[in-house]
Amino acid sequence: MAALTEVAREKLQALTAAGRRRVLTDTAREGGMAVVRSGKRLISFSCNDYLGLSQHPDVKAAAKAAVEKYGAGAGASRFVTGNHPLYASLEAKLAVWKGMEAALVFGSGYLANTGIIPALVGKGDLILADRLVHACLIDGALLSDAKLLRFKHNDMDDCQRLLEEHRGKHKHCLIVTDEVFSMDGDIAPLAELSALGSQYDAWLLADGAHSLAAEHAPVDIYVGTFSKALGSYGGFVAAKRDVIDYLATSARSLIFSTALPPAAVAAAEAALAILRADPVLAKAPLAKARLFTEATGLPLAQSPIVPLVLGEESKALKAAAEFEGAGYLAVAIRPPTVPEGTSRLRLAFSALHRDEDILALAGFIKNKGWV
Ligand SMILES: *Cc1c(COP(=O)(O)O)cnc(C)c1O
Repeated sequence: MAALTEVAREKLQALTAAGRRRVLTDTAREGGMAVVRSGKRLISFSCNDYLGLSQHPDVKAAAKAAVEKYGAGAGASRFVTGNHPLYASLEAKLAVWKGMEAALVFGSGYLANTGIIPALVGKGDLILADRLVHACLIDGALLSDAKLLRFKHNDMDDCQRLLEEHRGKHKHCLIVTDEVFSMDGDIAPLAELSALGSQYDAWLLADGAHSLAAEHAPVDIYVGTFSKALGSYGGFVAAKRDVIDYLATSARSLIFSTALPPAAVAAAEAALAILRADPVLAKAPLAKARLFTEATGLPLAQSPIVPLVLGEESKALKAAAEFEGAGYLAVAIRPPTVPEGTSRLRLAFSALHRDEDILALAGFIKNKGWV
């Protein structure tokens, strides 16, 4: 029998050789977009804290007040004793924000997707997913017993071709897509997907984890997270009231996992209030990303996410090290997170980035010949 440590060591060696081993690095976030790694202060272009709300005094104060009032942890699942009174208030506001009848908070975006997809579809059903959807949508699809097919990225003809060929052989059909693609920063054509859904009797699930938009084309199920623009932690789904009531009593990741710490829920609600009161703030990350794409000559940014695609793993890893040497943090994203041969630095722009830092970064990248 092979010793577990030996097997682990062999697997690690293979991953290291392929440039795919991931290691955790201590990273202390300071104010603004500064982080400290290995004693070095860097400007981060890797945080998803698009509006800097994780650092906002009102958001921090709301979290502290919730700890004082309800304690550090929730104590049990929402269905037992974990459903602290902060949930109902936040869910009502999320529903209004997304223009849906109701919302349901989960432990994270990952837990939302892995819980709701198997609740919605199963054996004999069909899931059509964009080629580049986030891993947790695929994990949710694999946990269901539905047949999973992938259509070419943002390619409506390919999606329609699959519907034409396979829809009739399945009872229910769910189309899943990111709203803003997490590693490419481009946007799904939700209106077209929704029209295809109507035409072929398929439901549309959009994952808006990276979205800052207040409005979008109508979808049947909207998934969001508090961990990015809202600066906290947790996830949610918004839909019609009956769908939400059904998901609440069916999604295993909601039922069999402890409720969020009260502080995370309170922080998300405070952040949502800031976002909704200040529509100008929500536009800032895209403006910052566009300043960067204009300065580098990259295609005009469609969201705060801008990929600098470099090709092989080794190239992306080397570029990440050079970034760090120059005082910037941009983590290399490699397969299996992105397709083979498209390893990249994924840059995320925040309202808190200073224009002069963005322009300096653009100059650095041009000097290196990466654009
Ligand atoms: C980050 C992300 C998630 C996961 O959300 P968490 O709340 O961090 O678990 C889900 N979907 C997409 C598209 C994401 O980018």
